[in-house]
Amino acid sequence: MRRAGGTMANDLFNSFMNGPDEKGRFGDFGGRFVSETLMPLILDLEAEYEKAKTDDSFWAEMNDLWTHYVGRPSPLYFAEGLTEHLGGAKVYMKRDELNHTGAHKINNVLGQILLARRMGKTRIIAETGAGQHGVATATVCAKFGLKCIVYMGAHDVQRQAPNVFRMRLLGAEVVAVESGRGTLKDAMNDALRDWVTNVADTFYCIGTAAGPHPYPAMVRDFQSIIGKETKEQMQKAEGRLPDTIIAAIGGGSNAIGLFYPFLDDDSVNIIGVEAGGKGVNDDMEHCASLTGGRPGVLHGNRTFLLQDDDGQILDGYSISAGLDYPGIGPEHSWLHEIGRAEYVAITDKEALDAFQLCCSTEGIIPALEPCHALAHVAKIAPKLPKDHIICMNMCGRGDKDIFTVAKYLGFDMSDTEGRDAD
Ligand SMILES: *Cc1c(COP(=O)(O)O)cnc(C)c1O
Repeated sequence: MRRAGGTMANDLFNSFMNGPDEKGRFGDFGGRFVSETLMPLILDLEAEYEKAKTDDSFWAEMNDLWTHYVGRPSPLYFAEGLTEHLGGAKVYMKRDELNHTGAHKINNVLGQILLARRMGKTRIIAETGAGQHGVATATVCAKFGLKCIVYMGAHDVQRQAPNVFRMRLLGAEVVAVESGRGTLKDAMNDALRDWVTNVADTFYCIGTAAGPHPYPAMVRDFQSIIGKETKEQMQKAEGRLPDTIIAAIGGGSNAIGLFYPFLDDDSVNIIGVEAGGKGVNDDMEHCASLTGGRPGVLHGNRTFLLQDDDGQILDGYSISAGLDYPGIGPEHSWLHEIGRAEYVAITDKEALDAFQLCCSTEGIIPALEPCHALAHVAKIAPKLPKDHIICMNMCGRGDKDIFTVAKYLGFDMSDTEGRDAD
């Protein structure tokens, strides 16, 4: 592997001490394309993170919160019903949907907020699309008594009312961003703008493995707890590594968190699943940046993006609001380019079928994001031998998505007549 860069002394990560180069580049991707005014803030953050990374007390605090606040380690679960149904490879699920707040996002938020506290920052800003990162950030800010401002596209504010209410309950201020099309990309632009104007007291907590260096590497490090636990749990369960690991990709944080500890294990196939929406076509009714996009610069890094011929960023589309990001973390672009990981796209329809399959075979109501990973499992598992082990990341629970699925299935939730037995 061509990997260069820093090391981490804490024993949480010492089995895979790799990173991007000193400029934050993963091959031709990543880096930091930011305005001069933002540069001092980025360098300050990088220096603090470099210090924290090798500080045992930082990781001790993190581990304590992961255990008692988040509920880690999350179980590694043998999905027996699904395995039998598919009739091929043995399917395991890494149950990160059981975390506090219902997804993997809090793994990363805790790390960044602990860092913000070390830096003496009292005002936390974040961007959010579907609202999951906003809720996780508002949660941890409430716990530590920090001021929290969440930028959210005006269009998303309308679409995601329950999460807006959750954030408000948790004491966060939600700013509806009217610029652009009022979606995640615009929210991220406004959060970066806020950061430059409020230099002294503000920490920008990014929700996925994107943004300018050091964010992609830092978010990956915090999410790598997923892959690290999976490796240990799989050794206990099967006495060996899995043959294939699979995760869904929005910006790519849960996926890189699962993948990273396995990158040097050549026997492990790595598959990232993008949102294929209505199909990867020229109308861009999808969010598959690697499958259907090309390299460009957005939010401070160079990566694969959905863009038109003039380089204007397109919004993309997916039934799953959490996968609705027009870019992808730069490390994935690099893994794609060197061929270490394979990237595929799954359509809305395939994901919805996987949703129902998971409910009926496992008694687990999954979020629509991991259903994309599950749909790919359902495609490949039947053709694989029974001793082939697949592990997919169940990165979120489905409560937030039941309205979307009800609409798709034609179930009217307001009409209880004749449906409610008692
Ligand atoms: C936010 C979210 C995603 C997408 O983000 P990544 O950074 O790609 O992990 C996927 N699944 C769930 C459940 C989410 O909340």
